[in-house]
Amino acid sequence: MGGHLANTMMQMTLEGRRLFLQGGQELGLDLEPYLPRFARFYELLNLVNQSTNLTAIRDEQGIVLKHFLDSLTCLSYSGFIDGLSVIDVGTGAGFPGLPLAIVRPNIHFDLLDATQKKVGFVAQVIQDLGLSNAQALWGRAETLARQNVKRETYDAALTRAVASLATVAELTLPLVRMGGFVIAQKGAGAEAEAEQAQGALRRLGGVVEHILRLTLPRTGDERALVIIQKISPSPLEYPRKPGVPAKNPLS
Ligand code: SAH
Repeated sequence: MGGHLANTMMQMTLEGRRLFLQGGQELGLDLEPYLPRFARFYELLNLVNQSTNLTAIRDEQGIVLKHFLDSLTCLSYSGFIDGLSVIDVGTGAGFPGLPLAIVRPNIHFDLLDATQKKVGFVAQVIQDLGLSNAQALWGRAETLARQNVKRETYDAALTRAVASLATVAELTLPLVRMGGFVIAQKGAGAEAEAEQAQGALRRLGGVVEHILRLTLPRTGDERALVIIQKISPSPLEYPRKPGVPAKNPLS
């Protein structure tokens, strides 16, 4: 009986599904075709969260709004088009990369995280949902960016809730090709952070193209997408050794 009850509780409720679809409409997205995959992703997240601490947000409304829909706000940037090769740096349990991979099958996503158990979960979801356009990678951005086969190869990099913008710049820009872009998902303080990160961005070959302000459906929580263009090569000294970009951000 306990098992049955637990299984039922792990499924997305009718209310959760409605919130997901209505929230999608507010973002200008028809999410109906993708609902079964998100519902399955939701189940797997709950299942694994019972034994491993994958994400702090665990209530249904929180997962729908702050994980699924918040991830999909990246689609508001007009440069996010089919055919791109994208890396999500510090994807955690797959945010924003997995929701984006579900709704954009013609964009390729590498989902990178330094924590093995999180990468294991992301790989499990990719396999379970049959996402042929996504790949889970275990490692640090500082290390990956030093590999010739990866350095300055991605069309775009994404990050959410990984570090301050100066650190994010050092972890992402060396991975992005010239003419590519970074989307840093931030909150209300994005402008101030962008101001502070000016020096770091300049050194790394990036410039803030613009800051897109958004509000999350239902709660009205403020969000910002900081769009950074890669305009010149990142000097070979960057990124510095693992841990240094976070401990001692460039100024
Ligand atoms: N982006 C997810 C997870 C945020 S938590 C979300 O928004 O829900 C930050 C994650 O970044 C952690 O899982 C941590 O392991 C990862 N991380 C931090 N620094 C990293 C680095 N240098 N390289 C790779 N992953 C990193």
